[in-house]
Amino acid sequence: MSVLVPIRIAPAGGCTDAPVLRERGQHEVFCGLTGIIWLHRKIQDAFFLVVGSRTCAHLIQSAAGVMIFAEPRFATAIIDERDLAGLADANAELDRVVQQLLARRPEIKLLFLVGSCPSEVIKLDLARAASRLSTKFAPSVRVLNYSGSGIETTFTQGEDACLASMVPALPATSTDAGTEILIVGTLADVVEDQFNRLFRQMGVDGVKYFPARHADDLPQVGSNTRFLLAQPFLADTSKALQQRGAKRIAAPFPLGIEGTELWLQAVAEVAGVSKTRFEGAIAAPKQRASAALARSRPLLEGKRIFFFPDSQLEIPLARFLARELGMHLVEVGTPYLHRQNMAEELALLPVGTALSEGQHVENQLDRCIAAQPDIVVCGLGLANPLEAQGLTTKWSIELVFTPIQGFDQAADLVELFTRPLVRRMRLAA
Ligand code: SF4
Repeated sequence: MSVLVPIRIAPAGGCTDAPVLRERGQHEVFCGLTGIIWLHRKIQDAFFLVVGSRTCAHLIQSAAGVMIFAEPRFATAIIDERDLAGLADANAELDRVVQQLLARRPEIKLLFLVGSCPSEVIKLDLARAASRLSTKFAPSVRVLNYSGSGIETTFTQGEDACLASMVPALPATSTDAGTEILIVGTLADVVEDQFNRLFRQMGVDGVKYFPARHADDLPQVGSNTRFLLAQPFLADTSKALQQRGAKRIAAPFPLGIEGTELWLQAVAEVAGVSKTRFEGAIAAPKQRASAALARSRPLLEGKRIFFFPDSQLEIPLARFLARELGMHLVEVGTPYLHRQNMAEELALLPVGTALSEGQHVENQLDRCIAAQPDIVVCGLGLANPLEAQGLTTKWSIELVFTPIQGFDQAADLVELFTRPLVRRMRLAA
């Protein structure tokens, strides 16, 4: 049996030691409450109760686009003027709301109390509330808490905070258990099913996912756990898992053909899969993805792209667009640069890529407008002003809401970038 050689990435080091422009100033981001949209779809018996204001309720409602008669699995316990003025006992109010909710929705197995700017302003201790309510409603309902506050965060941190809050509740693995592989980060069910098929074809059984589709299906964690991040924005979750003894499998993220192959290859190495079997398992989907990208490449090759910091997907996306589609990276901004989790991605970025971390939005807008890129990836708040300047934009939030991981999604991922360019070309014609 031939064994896979360890992954070797970019001997020249790409951008491993590249200088990074660090900016601190006004930034334009969404808050972490946004993560509830994809998290509540994934964990099918969880409920997210935002403890916040009417603004928080409007944000969630409009981001989710849910019809009000659909009984969604999220809601907002509104903090009103009486709470803000300290005239009401906010803890008693919260207990009453939770009691009512659980009486009406007995299918809820996991309840998240999600903190917001207002709950933090009145210093409502949601950790204590979660512990109190967990005791009260055990064993049928587990109550956890995390912060989705938007004061100093970016929107994908909501998922990181949510998953990190679950890590202490994960059961421990038994001491004599063999190596267990855990995929960490919310993936659309269709993507998870595709990866499962590939793992089976590679002969790798028992791969677990965190979060799982059901609240009771908590993966075990311990020193025999090897985990692989499926999303790049999970720094706190990764740290919490390592504190439980789990070890991270280093790999780029599964975006595009190259990223997906290296990500799967990292699993294959841990599981001792032979080179022949690995290559046989990925051959057909890799071929399909190559054919799809070849069709799109002429539209993107040589085009210049600018990333504003928002989703934390910027570096893996830039790597994909530069290496597989020949795009030129004008600037790659990221809200945070976690060098350890991003090491394999940085090594693959073209030498000389302009990297920035954090944001000073006025300075960055000046740089972007001066550079006149062909396409700009940015948050919703910046898209309209940039379009008004004649620039073509792509909303970064769409890249999180759309299933884009894996070989079979590579075509959809690339289409997210070709579509706005084609639309602009048609408008100009
Ligand atoms: S930024 Fe703060 S107040 Fe606004 S929606 Fe988010 S949590 Fe609520």
